[in-house]
Amino acid sequence: MAENTIISNPILHRKKDRAERTAHFDKYGREDFVFDTLVDTNIPDDLWVCDFCNVEMEVVDLANQPKSIWVHLSYALCGNCVDDLVKKEDNTADTINSSDVEFCNCCVGEEK
Ligand SMILES: [Zn+2]
Ligand SMILES: [Zn+2]
Repeated sequence: MAENTIISNPILHRKKDRAERTAHFDKYGREDFVFDTLVDTNIPDDLWVCDFCNVEMEVVDLANQPKSIWVHLSYALCGNCVDDLVKKEDNTADTINSSDVEFCNCCVGEEK
């Protein structure tokens, strides 16, 4: 897996993610102590918050087309944070290797 993933259709991505988890729990059951944010909260599909600076991120543009979101390891990052981290050259764990990127499979090839 690449270090970074581009979620090219965040709303669709979350719908699929939620559906997959729900199906998994239905099939295999689940432990009571497991809290699953996507299944257990009513977080809307279009609410994406930067995991670093907690700013709300736009997932559609003015023409209502999906806007890509950058995910580094498992952190969703806003454009500002990506810029900050890409610029760093001190080899800290948070530094983004911007050449190690792949597009999320579930979002690729899907029309909104
Ligand atoms: Zn941010
Ligand atoms: Zn996806």
